[in-house]
Amino acid sequence: MLNKLLLSQDFWRDSRKKAVASNQLFVSIRRMAVDIIGRDEARARGLKRYFTGKPCRRGHVAERSVNGSACVECNRERRAANLEKVRERSREYARKRRAADPERVREYDRKYLAAHPERAERVKENARRWRAANPQKTREHRRRHRAANLEKIRQRARDYQRAKRAAKRAQRAAKRRTAIGDKISKRQAAQKRAERVALRRAARAASELNRAGRTGESEGSFET
Ligand SMILES: [Zn+2]
Repeated sequence: MLNKLLLSQDFWRDSRKKAVASNQLFVSIRRMAVDIIGRDEARARGLKRYFTGKPCRRGHVAERSVNGSACVECNRERRAANLEKVRERSREYARKRRAADPERVREYDRKYLAAHPERAERVKENARRWRAANPQKTREHRRRHRAANLEKIRQRARDYQRAKRAAKRAQRAAKRRTAIGDKISKRQAAQKRAERVALRRAARAASELNRAGRTGESEGSFET
């Protein structure tokens, strides 16, 4: 198929080589779309994009979105050209969503950041930078947050102190246990030592008695 040929690795390697050889700028279009798939079929398969292999009005051979059939490359360019406007619009959208259902957005954010630690790191870094640049506002926020969550904060402090005390208690108990354990094992060791000594003594006494008995016996036999 033509599209397979056009979008094969060899095709791209060759055209890149040619472009480099003729000192041209090599512009790579998206290589994701390998199969030609009509809009209706893409929609039926639940895909968000389709690909005809035909260039758009501005010459991109790129996927188009099933919703609205816009060329994704045109969209990308338009977005890049109007970055501030696009960002403002998405901020506006986010504001509306947050206002409509703040808990839902918070839950969504939590899940997203849990799944994308590198983004979470960036969010934290941005917050740090903002606080460094706005110390006055940061203090104000903290003050307001503390005032609004006084009971929660106090409860957390109490829980923390309680946990600390419990940990200390556990530590002391563990120490006591090992001390008692030491005493017991020392006593057991002493007992075992004493038993061994007693056994050895008994064995020696028995062998002495035996020897004495044997000599006595032999003497006796000699006598009889
Ligand atoms: Zn286009």
